[in-house]
Amino acid sequence: MHTDTDTSVTFASLSLSAPLQRALADKGYVRPSPIQAQAIPHLLQGRDLIGLAQTGTGKTAAFSLPLLDLLQRRPAAPQPRRCRVLVLTPTRELAIQIAESVEGYGRHLRVRCALVFGGVGEQPQIRALAAGPDIVVATPGRLLDLMQQGHLHLDRTEFFVLDEADRMLDMGFAPDVGRIVARLPKHRQSLLFSATMPSSIRDLANRLLTNPVTVEIAQAGTTADRIEQTVCFVDRPDKHRLLLHVLNRHAAGQRTLVFSRTKHGADKIARNLVRDGVRAAAIHGNKGQGARQRALGEFRDGIVPVLVATDIAARGIDVSEIGLVVNYDLPEEPEAYVHRIGRTARAGASGRAVAFCDREEHALLRDIQRLIRRPLTPDTDHPFAGRGAPPTVDHRPPASRSRTTPSAPNGHGGRPSFRHRHPSPLHRGGNPYRAR
Ligand code: AMP
Repeated sequence: MHTDTDTSVTFASLSLSAPLQRALADKGYVRPSPIQAQAIPHLLQGRDLIGLAQTGTGKTAAFSLPLLDLLQRRPAAPQPRRCRVLVLTPTRELAIQIAESVEGYGRHLRVRCALVFGGVGEQPQIRALAAGPDIVVATPGRLLDLMQQGHLHLDRTEFFVLDEADRMLDMGFAPDVGRIVARLPKHRQSLLFSATMPSSIRDLANRLLTNPVTVEIAQAGTTADRIEQTVCFVDRPDKHRLLLHVLNRHAAGQRTLVFSRTKHGADKIARNLVRDGVRAAAIHGNKGQGARQRALGEFRDGIVPVLVATDIAARGIDVSEIGLVVNYDLPEEPEAYVHRIGRTARAGASGRAVAFCDREEHALLRDIQRLIRRPLTPDTDHPFAGRGAPPTVDHRPPASRSRTTPSAPNGHGGRPSFRHRHPSPLHRGGNPYRAR
């Protein structure tokens, strides 16, 4: 097994073909990332694979490179309305990025890639399918529509990739995925990627894959190590002013991604920032495809340095050099926190993540801290310190911990019990979370 520090593995030693190696050299990639080093040999041998990794680990190349290699080793004439590789991914942004990556890696090969996703006209996609692409990268809803209209048949599909499987299920795509998979030939090579492995994904993997190898990249841990993670306790009405303060203090001209739990909230946060002279835009599912692409483009180009996003909209953002992630609202699902902060510290860089926590969010913070197995560092050096006492990391079962996190309903700070469990300097000498 290869590790992060294993420098002996090269793309050449993975026996990828020369045109692929040339494309990698064009891109300036020197070494395979850990998931690439681990997954590529198994995939070249034809194995099914479970990849426990999230975006940012290099997983797109981990499946694209070997599949491109296998395609050209076994050339086949293009067939109208059929494809040899199907990649299913939950969002249009991810689909676009995967297709761009595949085309980049395959630039010295003759491969044709078609993109299929909703929110835009069907005709260009129908034409691309009619031409007989080698690879189709698609979101499930539109793909199923086009399949039902007879524009794509999967009877010749040799390779199937289910990307971000956990997100797929979160977004309610399980039935669509089931219908699509039912049309695939039994004999095929299948790959499933997921950042997390709850039992629902395990079940899905059991149905989809045959004797798979599992490759696991401990992204949550390794990313977390490179990201400076702090939490600011704040009263909800002060969050906007705290955001201005955090942007002034930490953004330093770097791209900043601000997360909101709701679409409405994202719009409001962006509007308030713009009102206060900050170049900001919001992206979420209610925005049209054009508006989302424009906002992403301006963010990528640095024209708009602050992007406010909901979790779903942010999944497709593959913009490197995001220096700061602000959790304006804490996510309901602790796993989403890991996804959110993973937007910074890409490709080995360091980054910063600041979480805002009001009194209603203490339980969410506690869940996050339990998941990442560490407390976030409280940042008390800001002018809007909220009055609620911070929650603690509590490893007891839910039944016995119902009232261990004081929420300070009277606004005078919580019980000091957490100090005994967290004897850090910050927790001594008075409640540091009181307003000054
Ligand atoms: P992914 O996890 O596939 O979204 O990839 C994350 C980012 O890392 C993308 O911007 C890729 O272009 C980049 N990348 C992938 N593999 C490598 C590599 N071996 N060396 C350097 N960058 C890479």
